[in-house]
Amino acid sequence: MRSFYCVTCGAQFAPSEAPPASCPVCEDARQYVPEDGQRWTTPDALAAGHRSELREEGGYLGVGLEPGFAIGQRALLVPLGESNVLWDCVPLVDEPAAAEIERRGGLAAIAISHPHYYTGMVEWAHRFDCPILLHAADAEWIMRPDPSVELWEGETRSLGDGLTLIRCGGHFAGGTVLHDARAGALLAGDIVQVIPDRRHVGFMYSYPNLIPLPAEAVTAIAAALEPYAFETIYGAWWGRIVPGEGSEVVRRSAERYVRALRGELP
Ligand SMILES: [Zn+2]
Ligand SMILES: [Zn+2]
Repeated sequence: MRSFYCVTCGAQFAPSEAPPASCPVCEDARQYVPEDGQRWTTPDALAAGHRSELREEGGYLGVGLEPGFAIGQRALLVPLGESNVLWDCVPLVDEPAAAEIERRGGLAAIAISHPHYYTGMVEWAHRFDCPILLHAADAEWIMRPDPSVELWEGETRSLGDGLTLIRCGGHFAGGTVLHDARAGALLAGDIVQVIPDRRHVGFMYSYPNLIPLPAEAVTAIAAALEPYAFETIYGAWWGRIVPGEGSEVVRRSAERYVRALRGELP
C-alpha cells in the first residue's frame, strides 16, 4: 500500500495498492487534467528525484522542493512560541531539512490556505507529530484523511503570538490567509495573489483556467482583511512578495478588480 501523489496538482491520496482512478482536485474547474492524461507517483519515487530546499524568504524560512513538483509552491516556517507553524505545505521533507526545522523548534502546527496545497500534509504531520489546521468548508477536498487533521470553523482562529488565521473564501469556500501582527505581514497563499508589479494583487476562482471571481467575493476578501494592518504580503512561490503598503495594496486592487468586472478597464 502506498499513498500516491497526483503529478499535476500534488494531492496525496489515502494508501492504496494501485493508483487512484482519478484526481477530484484536478477534475474540478479550478484545476485541470493535462492533455496527455493523469499521472501518479509514489513517496519513494518523489524522494528519489527531489530534495528539500530551505532558503531565507523575507523574514521567514522558506521551505520548498528542488526541482519543483506539481504546482511548485513553497511553504514558510513561522515562529510560534518556542516552536513554529508551517504555513502552506510542500509534498515532502527530507531528513537534512527536517533536522534544521527541529533545530529551530520543530512544528506546533501546519496551517494551509486551501486544498491545492494540502499535498504532503500528512507526511509532515507524522514527521513532526503535530496537527494540521484546515478550514471545515473545504473538508470535501481532503484526499488523505488522517487523525492529525483538525478542522476549524468560523471566520478567524487565533494561534497565539499575534498569529491569526483569517477565512477569506474566494478561490475556495474555506480559503484562508495567515496574519502575522508582529511582522506586519500577510501570508496569502494564492487566496490573494501576488502579481508582477508588486503594487497590486489579483484574485481568481481558477488561475490555470482564467475564471475570475464575482465582485461580491472580491469585496468580501477585502472586507475580511480590513481589520488587519500589514505591510508585506507573501504569495505562494519563491520571491512573490509585496514589500510594503500591503493593506492599501489589497484595498486598491479589490477596487480595481470590481471596476474591471463592471466594464471600467484600468
Ligand atoms: Zn490532481
Ligand atoms: Zn489554488
